[in-house]
Amino acid sequence: MGIHDEDLQRVKVESDLAGIVSQYVALKKVGQRFSGLCPFHNEKTPSFSVNADEGFFYCFGCQKSGDAITFVREMEHLDFVGAVEWLANRLGIALRYTDSSDGTNRKERQELSDLLEKTAEFYHQTLRSGKQAGKVRSYLRSRGFDSETVEQFRIGYAPDEWDALASHLGVATEKLEAAGLGRPGQRGGAIDFFRDRVMFPVCDANGVVVGFGGRMLPDGQQPKYKNTPHTRLYDKSKVLYGLHWAKKQIVHADEIIVCEGYTDVIGCFRAGLDRAVATCGTALTDEHVKTMVRFAKRIVIAFDADGAGKAAADRFYEWEHQHNAEVFVAAIPEGTDPGQLAEENPAALTEAINAAEPFLSYRINRVLDRADLERVEGRARAAADTGAIIAEHPNEVVRDQYLVETAQKVRVDIEQMRRLIVNPPPQQANTPTPPQDSPDSDNRREVTPPAQPPPVELNVLRALIHQPEAVSALVLPAMFTDPVAVEAYSLVTSEGWRDRVNDFSQPVATLVGRLLVEEVDADPVELVSRALDAVIHRWNTQLRYDVNDIEQLRKHQPIVQWLAQRQEEMHSDQTRAAAVEAIVEWLRTQPANDASTR
Ligand SMILES: [Zn+2]
Repeated sequence: MGIHDEDLQRVKVESDLAGIVSQYVALKKVGQRFSGLCPFHNEKTPSFSVNADEGFFYCFGCQKSGDAITFVREMEHLDFVGAVEWLANRLGIALRYTDSSDGTNRKERQELSDLLEKTAEFYHQTLRSGKQAGKVRSYLRSRGFDSETVEQFRIGYAPDEWDALASHLGVATEKLEAAGLGRPGQRGGAIDFFRDRVMFPVCDANGVVVGFGGRMLPDGQQPKYKNTPHTRLYDKSKVLYGLHWAKKQIVHADEIIVCEGYTDVIGCFRAGLDRAVATCGTALTDEHVKTMVRFAKRIVIAFDADGAGKAAADRFYEWEHQHNAEVFVAAIPEGTDPGQLAEENPAALTEAINAAEPFLSYRINRVLDRADLERVEGRARAAADTGAIIAEHPNEVVRDQYLVETAQKVRVDIEQMRRLIVNPPPQQANTPTPPQDSPDSDNRREVTPPAQPPPVELNVLRALIHQPEAVSALVLPAMFTDPVAVEAYSLVTSEGWRDRVNDFSQPVATLVGRLLVEEVDADPVELVSRALDAVIHRWNTQLRYDVNDIEQLRKHQPIVQWLAQRQEEMHSDQTRAAAVEAIVEWLRTQPANDASTR
């Protein structure tokens, strides 16, 4: 596999790791580094750290570490080359490949991507200035889509012709078909997949166009919505419309609003709810939820979730359990949708989103809304119906709280209400199964944290990484006894080591990854002096073992005393630097300083 080394280096140097990580999780600046919730394992307090200057990350929870390429590989499930391409794309670096056949597959994806981008522009320009798009422009205006909205969402129009796009792009029919934009016509040539429709470009989380949604005009005879068919770039069970526009707000608010349609997302944005996304012509899937919880834990469902009943409930509870999500439901008035509501009464839309309730409470309240609580029969009915809904929740504690609350509302004795739950669900969540956060977190969970080298050695390594100019002349191999620290020392003192961290053994890569995001918390020379204290202590101990008679001991007495004096001097700020230098100089003359003083 091969990307030109020069290009690879450029990608490494120019990648802004903190910026990239911020696309997935919120980062806060803490001292010199950034900190946030780890995207690789499930956690509630931040243990994920980014050293922006060095371009390295480390998680104190799961010990995952690496550079921008490692991060993108993990997050986007890409191979090495794929991750480099992902980064290069954002940086505007055109990669050169060392082996031409190797790039073919990727080149094909890139070609599709280019075609889709050109198509988005073609549709958009057609809507803005095409002669036949006049009726579409006035239709959109009548629906409250001003030119600003058209620009912001890059809305377009697919002309009412058989091959307007195909002839504009002028590429082979197979290419059009592979991009989901056309198919072979009966008389040869290609015909467009979308015709006479308002076009919404669908992008991935990074803003790269992967497909389209086409909405029929009001007088059309075709299905209301038509979406790009499954292609190499477009998978409707994964893609979320609007995510790349909304993701910043989503992270900021720790809340994501999920709608069903393109116009719903746009409506939410227009109502000031710029944290909305939509599934593209499909029900919410597990993949969608996995993507969403990377950005926010609280998922607000802004479509009719009531009708789906128990099947939907089971899925929602499962997601809450599996992905540590909180599923809320906004009560959008019946017969309308967020898009329409935004147009007619934006305040009502905002109100509905802000008043979103946990799914269980939402369902109970819908039953109570319809119930006739004035009559005994009505109350009994409401108790039975809400009881059945409560019984579906897998968590006993949650069930019980809702039982108490609901029993009061329907004015039924709590014990009677309890008896209504005749069929407790088969899966009891009070015996929790281990949560599965990210797809491959399981094997990571089994990794036991490596044994920690003595802090003194870690401090020196850390100083060596962050302030080499201050300490590199003072640090010697004799300061390291822990095997991982010894190897880490040889790594961080070698030329160009930052590019080779992952070539080293896992414990070393992990240790160095962590040190890279940590800060030197004391004067670096003082840290070296503590390491020297330890070296001298070991040297003295060894001497007592090695020396058997008084005569030999007396021979060593001067150096023992000399070292004791220097050690004393190392404790004072005024004399430390000179003492450290003196000891280091002496240590260099000692025969065994390549491993330890032994
Ligand atoms: Zn982690």
